[in-house]
Amino acid sequence: MTDTEKTARPDPAASPDAPMTTPAGADAFAGFAIDFSRDEGVAGAGVAVASTPAAGVPGSASAESGGRTEAKVLIIGSGPAGLTAAIYAARADLAPIVLAGSAAGGQLMITSDVENYPGFPEGIQGPELMAKFREQAERFGTHIVDIDVDRVDFSRRPFRVWARGTEYRGDAVIVASGASALWLGLDSETRLRGRGVSACATCDGFFFRGEEVAVVGGGDTALEEATFLTRFATKVHLLHRRDAFRASKIMIDRAKANDKIEIRTNVEVDEVIGTAKVEGLRLRDTKTGETSQVPMGGLFIAIGYKPNTDIFRGELDVDEKGYLVVEDETRSKIDGVFIAGDVHDHRYRQAVTAAGDGCKAAIDAERWLEAMHAQEAGIGSAGATKAATA
Ligand SMILES: Cc1cc2nc3c(=O)[nH]c(=O)nc-3n(C[C@H](O)[C@H](O)[C@H](O)COP(=O)(O)OP(=O)(O)OC[C@H]3O[C@@H](n4cnc5c(N)ncnc54)[C@H](O)[C@@H]3O)c2cc1C
Repeated sequence: MTDTEKTARPDPAASPDAPMTTPAGADAFAGFAIDFSRDEGVAGAGVAVASTPAAGVPGSASAESGGRTEAKVLIIGSGPAGLTAAIYAARADLAPIVLAGSAAGGQLMITSDVENYPGFPEGIQGPELMAKFREQAERFGTHIVDIDVDRVDFSRRPFRVWARGTEYRGDAVIVASGASALWLGLDSETRLRGRGVSACATCDGFFFRGEEVAVVGGGDTALEEATFLTRFATKVHLLHRRDAFRASKIMIDRAKANDKIEIRTNVEVDEVIGTAKVEGLRLRDTKTGETSQVPMGGLFIAIGYKPNTDIFRGELDVDEKGYLVVEDETRSKIDGVFIAGDVHDHRYRQAVTAAGDGCKAAIDAERWLEAMHAQEAGIGSAGATKAATA
């Protein structure tokens, strides 16, 4: 399938810094027959945006939670990691609450064809896949609230998190708040996302067989993506707005040695041209200001990701790139708080790896809770809780 054949989907209207804070993703969910009206926090049919809590009294029943603000397992995030964790936790009888965020469904809500998620030999649309995840999680008793968590306190148990003034409590917490791709911020780029504009070469490179594509960026990721794309594209234009690349020398040398890669410095994308799909780019010379137009079949933005970790600063450790640090598989430095998916993983960044992480986090949480209860009942040793997830 070529990118031309990608199915139209709702425009994800988003700013470059917060590309997924739109309920457009939730709208797309509704298109796949998930009844959001079951959630009392839904503002209107098909729009999965939580209403303002009735009282906002900590610990009180809120409109969004359907009366439930306490859970054995509280999950933050509803991408592949969060919803897989929910499926496993719900099937372990832990009746989880998922605080889904305003980008309910996560990053796959802003892409069209997903052809590398196992079990769908014909491929599946990103929003449709996430609607299935959600339906499966709800089927086993997960309660999902489409709301952003704005504060957390993991200093004592039960752990507490707040969303629009409502306090939620969990004996264990799974953090699966993902990461957001950074975009250039052009209207034309937003309009053509999933129609030739992508932020993931591993995911979408395959659709550009026989096309000329451009990659924007100057770091290792951009050079890596450009090299990867030469497997499919006839030519890859690597566009960088500065003179010098931030990327490592070895990556630059590799790109320079590749006949299919044409490196252009001091150039930026001014506009993505095309109506139903990407047809070309208007480029601007960053030194002279001159613009030129070039035909192009696809545009890959490789200027970085922002992990959604701001609310966890001071509670959980982050690495130099801002991603959460895991100590052992899914464990955080706090006993009972687990981490899954792209919020810690900047290496693989795939739906299937995030889902796998969600599964692991739920199993770890379940075993940890079990060990905690045994300990409280005087069965087993103090070290049992660590051992349970080791
Ligand atoms: C354009 C594009 C195309 C892609 N295509 C593919 C593909 O074809 N195949 C593939 O395997 N992968 C693909 N990926 C990668 C894949 O989407 C991610 O690896 C995967 O979604 C990560 O899952 P996650 O659950 O860790 O996080 P995310 O999907 O990022 O989900 C994060 C969740 O956390 C929530 N959240 C964030 N902050 C808060 C908060 N404060 N409170 C509550 N909730 C919060 C968000 O609302 C969201 O629900 C693509 C990515 C992009 C950007």
